[in-house]
Amino acid sequence: MKIDPVSVTPYPLAAAISPGIYPYLGGSVDQAVLRSVVSACGGAVVSGRRGAKLAAQTSGVLVDPAAYGASAATDSGPLFDYDEWLTRQQAAGVPLILTDTPRIRNDDRSALRKALERWAAIDDPTLVVLPIEPWWLREGLPHLTEEVRAAGRPVAIVLLHQYNGLDTARAIAGLLTFIAEVEPLPVVLLRCDISAVGMVAHRAFAGFVGWSANTRHGPLPMRRPDRAEGEDERDDSPSVFVPALHNYVKTSKLPALARNRSMNILHCGDPACRGDSLLEIAALTETDLRAGRLLAGRHNMASTERLARRILAAAEPRDAWREACQAGAEASAALAESGISLPSSRWLRQWLDLGPHARPPAEPAPVNLLL
Ligand SMILES: [Zn+2]
Repeated sequence: MKIDPVSVTPYPLAAAISPGIYPYLGGSVDQAVLRSVVSACGGAVVSGRRGAKLAAQTSGVLVDPAAYGASAATDSGPLFDYDEWLTRQQAAGVPLILTDTPRIRNDDRSALRKALERWAAIDDPTLVVLPIEPWWLREGLPHLTEEVRAAGRPVAIVLLHQYNGLDTARAIAGLLTFIAEVEPLPVVLLRCDISAVGMVAHRAFAGFVGWSANTRHGPLPMRRPDRAEGEDERDDSPSVFVPALHNYVKTSKLPALARNRSMNILHCGDPACRGDSLLEIAALTETDLRAGRLLAGRHNMASTERLARRILAAAEPRDAWREACQAGAEASAALAESGISLPSSRWLRQWLDLGPHARPPAEPAPVNLLL
């Protein structure tokens, strides 16, 4: 979903892409699916070498080199080798170049500075990718803000985390402070979850929301959990956005939520589900995991788009976002009262803890939807 850039500052970014919410698809998407996503959502991000090949065949698609998936640069090693990823993106004809930043370690200010200088002299519109851990939104926030302001370039934050970096205490408040303090520099959330909609409501430039759990945060090496013998196997069912709960839930957990028939929690009215129950995705996943994942991804994109339209077209998007968070938390609480408990989400709680008047009034948000 793109927004008419009527009130956006004249940084080159707005000339390259419209502000708004778009899907982040990773590198394994099928070409036909990518085409249909781009025509429905007005753009998308794909990642890695395979993504670059896909982008060359579909206009309006951005490529995230996703170089942060490799090990972090150290003081002794070079931060960047050569311009392979610049050439690759130029050859694909992308509207906006994304930099190939490796993982920036906590407190490594010189790596941050180098990342902010990457391809600063080229003529193409460029977005500096900053793959950082939540530490930079807390203890490291003054340094992050200072360096980004000094560089004066648009940035895309990729939060590196095992699950969800925005679950880290104070991460949401830190991100909102960052967006406000570097303004008018555009801030993009790359590889985010639906909190990207809340961030755009709070004047982030754009958000790219992952269609699956592993495209909603940057990868960090998993710590192997100490698992007792006989414990359940890993749950590899896809997670789906449940609009009524304003939260993501694994499809394996959906049948339990359906036990409360009076609440109709699993109804989905987006263009992918057309009023079906999300149990359809759970059922398909049981018989065909691959097809179930694809359906889950399509639902996630369609329901995110639907949510973004509603929030960003509201007279006061920040209030609309807060109401959506509140309604989701209340629905979860009502489920808990009827004996169905869901793990509480810390990111959602953080949005609610901000309070209704935590931020100074923003200028009117752009409201003209092009779709
Ligand atoms: Zn749906």
